[in-house]
Formats: sequence, C-alpha cells, structure tokens
Amino acid sequence: MVSILKMNFEEKRKRLVESLKDRGILTEQDVINAMLVVPRHKFVPLDAESSAYIDSPLSIGLGQTISAPHMNAMMCEYLKLREGDKVLEIGTGSGYHAALCAEMVAPKKSENPGHVYTIERHEGLVENARRSLKETGYEDRVTVIHGDGTLGYPKEAPYDKILVTAASPSKIPIPLRTQLKEGGILCIPAGSKNFGQNLYIIKKKGNDFKTKRITGVRFVPLIGKYGFES
Ligand code: SAM
Repeated sequence: MVSILKMNFEEKRKRLVESLKDRGILTEQDVINAMLVVPRHKFVPLDAESSAYIDSPLSIGLGQTISAPHMNAMMCEYLKLREGDKVLEIGTGSGYHAALCAEMVAPKKSENPGHVYTIERHEGLVENARRSLKETGYEDRVTVIHGDGTLGYPKEAPYDKILVTAASPSKIPIPLRTQLKEGGILCIPAGSKNFGQNLYIIKKKGNDFKTKRITGVRFVPLIGKYGFES
C-alpha cells in the first residue's frame, strides 16, 4: 500500500472519492466523475495544498472557507445537476464548487452545454476564483459576478438549479425563489447566523415550494439585503 505522504494529488483525490463512496455520500456517477476530475488543490491557498484532499473545510482568506468535500458531494447529488442546466451559485468562495457544477452541466465537447453563474460578495475572493477557474479550464463555463447574491442574478434568470453555499436566515431570500425555474431545485442551508442550521432542498411546483430538510449543517453566514447583517 502506498503511504499517503508519497501519493500525488490525483492519487489523493481518488482516495478521497473512494472514501466518500464507502460512506454512502457519493452515489451518482456524474458527481463521482466530477470529483475525480476537478483539482481541488488548485482552488486552495498554496500553504493548504497538501490538505486539499482531506475531507475538511479549509480557510481561503477573508474569514471564509472552501466547504468540506462531503458537503460539495452531498449538495451536488441533491441538486440532480444535468447537462444543459443553467445554474446559479451564491457564495463563489474559492470557485471549486462552481467548477464541479460546470463539469456536470457543461462537460467538455457537450452539444448542449449549460452554464454556471456564481456570485461572491468579497472582491478579493472573486479575483482568486476567476484565476483558479482560468488555470483549470473552467473560465468559459463559469461566470463569476461580484455582488450581493441574496438578490440573485435577474439578468440570466430563470435557473434550473440554485445552490447557496452560505447560511441564509430561516426566511429564504425571495429573489432566489422567484428566479428558480418551474420544476427547478434550490439547495440552501438556513437557520441562525452561527449555529443551528439545516440544509434544505426546495422544489418549485407552480406557485408552491416543496421543502425537505436534509441534515444539520454549519456554514458561514449569508450576508446581504435578504440575508444577515454584516
Ligand atoms: N462554494 C464555495 C467554494 O467552493 O469554495 C464555498 C463558499 S463559502 C462556505 C461561502 C461564501 O459565501 C463566502 O465566500 C462568502 O463570502 C460568500 N457570501 C456570503 N454572503 C454572500 C452574499 N450575499 N453574496 C455572495 N456571496 C456571499
């Protein structure tokens, strides 16, 4: 058996994916493929590269984090991302989760490519994410926008899928509900600002929203007009 210290990034990535499969978190082949392909170590600060394939959140600066891989996997599975989907992500952070989504909705050589729009409130993170997405070949499939994601991104609405990667107050931001396509799925952590949050899957059916609680979670707060105050 190869010691983890001697593994290269690809081997470490495979090992992480296998452990997520063993734990029953990763089940869908599209999500498995995306997690095998997207180089998470390119989305974290240099001094955290060696920890990129540990199932843990990591600091990306400005008090923010890249989520743990099991959370990325879980959210992607619940969103049921399909080739051609138009996706809105709130909370770009490192850009890693946006790249995972792009790998599924706009795989290379797709004849019906979808697109990922992702919004980040910290300008410094926007720049870093754009750089990482360019370096890894996702810049044409992901558009990074600097702004308040609680307002959504009306310019490209409606969206097949909306992914929120910061914790919303219990009252889900209205713009996100209205910008979701009929039959679309919104995946969002919500609850209180620092603890006591749950992950929800919300499906839009006509004027109705079917909400399902998935599990307890802990995310940084969603700050903005329809979020928490900073
Ligand atoms: N998806 C990210 C990734 O792959 O690295 C991780 C996101 S991190 C857990 C949450 C991010 O949401 C932070 O970068 C934070 O600055 C951002 N955020 C919080 N409120 C926001 C808002 N109203 N609009 C846009 N981004 C927001």
